[in-house]
Amino acid sequence: MTTPLVEMDGDEMTRVLWKMIKEILLEPHVELKTEYYDLGLPYRDQTEDQVTVDAAMAIKKYGVGVKCATITPNVQRMEEYHLKQMWKSPNATLRAILDGTVFRAPIMVQGIRPLVRNWKKPITIARHAYGDIYKASEMVIDGPGKAELVFTPADGEPKKITVHEFKGSGVLQGMHNLDASIGSYARACFEFALGEKQDLWFSSKDTISKLYDGRFKQIFQQIFDAEYKERFEQAGIEYFYTLIDDAVARVMRSEGGFIWACKNYDGDVMSDMVATAFGSLAMMTSVLVSPDGNYEFEAAHGTVTRHYYRYLKGGQTSTNPVATIFAWSGALRKRGELDGLADLCEFAGRLERATLEVIESGVMTKDLASIFEGQAQGVNSEEFLRAIAQRL
Ligand code: NAP
Ligand code: MG
Repeated sequence: MTTPLVEMDGDEMTRVLWKMIKEILLEPHVELKTEYYDLGLPYRDQTEDQVTVDAAMAIKKYGVGVKCATITPNVQRMEEYHLKQMWKSPNATLRAILDGTVFRAPIMVQGIRPLVRNWKKPITIARHAYGDIYKASEMVIDGPGKAELVFTPADGEPKKITVHEFKGSGVLQGMHNLDASIGSYARACFEFALGEKQDLWFSSKDTISKLYDGRFKQIFQQIFDAEYKERFEQAGIEYFYTLIDDAVARVMRSEGGFIWACKNYDGDVMSDMVATAFGSLAMMTSVLVSPDGNYEFEAAHGTVTRHYYRYLKGGQTSTNPVATIFAWSGALRKRGELDGLADLCEFAGRLERATLEVIESGVMTKDLASIFEGQAQGVNSEEFLRAIAQRL
């Protein structure tokens, strides 16, 4: 390796797996060059979360990072870890600093069939992570009166429209988005589609929301026409916009193999639906892509707390390391592509194939054994990793 990979360690069971993956699968084959950041909760607390900011800056500097799952503190975690403060989710901090978009994709393996019969290839979902109902202002209306939408320009007369003349009680909501955020999102999607060489779909409800959703559609199209049209043609891929109702119907009838860009709420809901239909949360990867082409790879699941408590009591756990292995392989492949290291790309491919072949041969963690079609032997995490190492 020539350029360091930004390595972000994490918490609980995934932290245990992280170390095992490095020792058993990576270090015997790759002279790993990483810049290590400990995003485990104790060190985040000790550095007042500066370590998360430093890791984000390192990704900006080098271009590629790989992250272990981390605890997002809540009240209970405050007590458990005696925290100075309820630190923000590291993923939110990274996303904000990198201005990035999260793409989630299932890892498909023979023997675990998606619930939707005709899905043959992965469907990747992109979710816009700013604004709309997630940053809305809401109000309960107790009785009759007029609700208005008012915008007061920094230098000018207020603009005002009536939302509704209430005759009785009800509810009210105001939400917004930003051209800059929509533009960054669009660019991240176009960049990712080019990297994956897959078609990009974008859906919204612009027939009903002509101005709001219409703005999203327009910004996507303008950026595509001005900056990406030719590159898409050269790559032999397609971008198109379609109404969300139509997108849902087409997704269900498709065989997969494309990227579906969604608005914030649609992405929240649809990513859970697609993940469930593909079989298992433990088989979902997640990539954060910034509009200027920086990448951060991780597993979509959390720190698997329940398994960790069992592990602390000395018990064996059968926690699925596949998504974390694919986070590493994805990051190493991307590093290899950027630095022109064919061997590193080749290793990433071999690691993924070895992992899938072990599962296809019938050896897997227990979460998969229960949904596998065929003879399955459920093993613990370390036995599974050793089986991959042997095949590798
Ligand atoms: P979780 O860690 O994803 O686990 C939820 C349940 O899903 C587990 O108890 C387990 O079910 C199953 N599961 C998930 N991943 C698995 C794997 N690799 N192998 C086998 N089973 C797996 O979610 P959570 O319990 O809601 O959250 C735990 C912590 O993770 C929280 O502190 C949260 O803040 C954090 N989190 C971090 C991220 C991130 O860093 N990206 C994302 C989500 C959550 P069974 O117990 O039934 O076996
Ligand atoms: Mg959700």
